[in-house]
Amino acid sequence: MLLNGCFAKKSIEKISRPGTTDVTSSSREAKWSTGVLLSGIDIKISSDFNPLFDVADNDGSGHNLFIQMMKQWNSSTNLYTFFQADGDTTTNKNYTNISSYYDSEMGIYKSTNWFSNVSNQALAVTQFYGIRRNVGSATEYIELTHADIILNYRDYTFSMDSSSNSNYDLPSVLLHELGHFIGLSHQSDFLVSSVMQPYLSIFDVNRSITSADISSTRTNYNASLLTASNALSALNTGVRTSQVDPKEGEIVRGIIELRDNGKCHHYENGVLSDIH
Ligand SMILES: [Zn+2]
Repeated sequence: MLLNGCFAKKSIEKISRPGTTDVTSSSREAKWSTGVLLSGIDIKISSDFNPLFDVADNDGSGHNLFIQMMKQWNSSTNLYTFFQADGDTTTNKNYTNISSYYDSEMGIYKSTNWFSNVSNQALAVTQFYGIRRNVGSATEYIELTHADIILNYRDYTFSMDSSSNSNYDLPSVLLHELGHFIGLSHQSDFLVSSVMQPYLSIFDVNRSITSADISSTRTNYNASLLTASNALSALNTGVRTSQVDPKEGEIVRGIIELRDNGKCHHYENGVLSDIH
């Protein structure tokens, strides 16, 4: 479905949900371990966003709009804390190579460079890394160990002002990316109200998750609880650059691009693994 032209909507990014070519899309799952979700994922906010925050936008707990978007996902289940949502900031990273974001810190960053291997039709990307678990079985999934959200400030402008019709609504984009961050894919049914719809127009403001989003989260984090992750050893093991013969425990880097022809290209460790 190509919506870009007629509705002037832009694909919200994307990167996420790696999967093998021999596994059906319904069985592709990506999720954080319960060990991580006991205290929440520690994702930092680039201090370059600080000037955009207005205390008038804060909620009753004094939390800015970015933290409020994290709290949206936290509220989707009473089992887990997805994000620490403490508002910790960090220095912005503006790499020319998206792989450089795979470091010891997870964050939300502004890019004025964008990346040669990511579509310029994307407002933002969430890049994630994980470990292959249960390879070859019906319960195969990617245990997420690292992710970053990068906003495309080279090609687009964003605003915290929900009434702005000249900039993309930054909290809306972030809420969508945070959904990918916790392993959710795009809502495949255009008729379903969801912040995980893959398009956003310059007029859209989607700052609240929907019942469909809550359902997606609960499905992704089902009763089969994950064991504690070993993220540090994963970081030290390195990433394979081909995706032949998936191995149990190997590190996977996931990228999904939504092209302007409406096709989704899924890359796994740099290799095209699926187009739909
Ligand atoms: Zn997306």
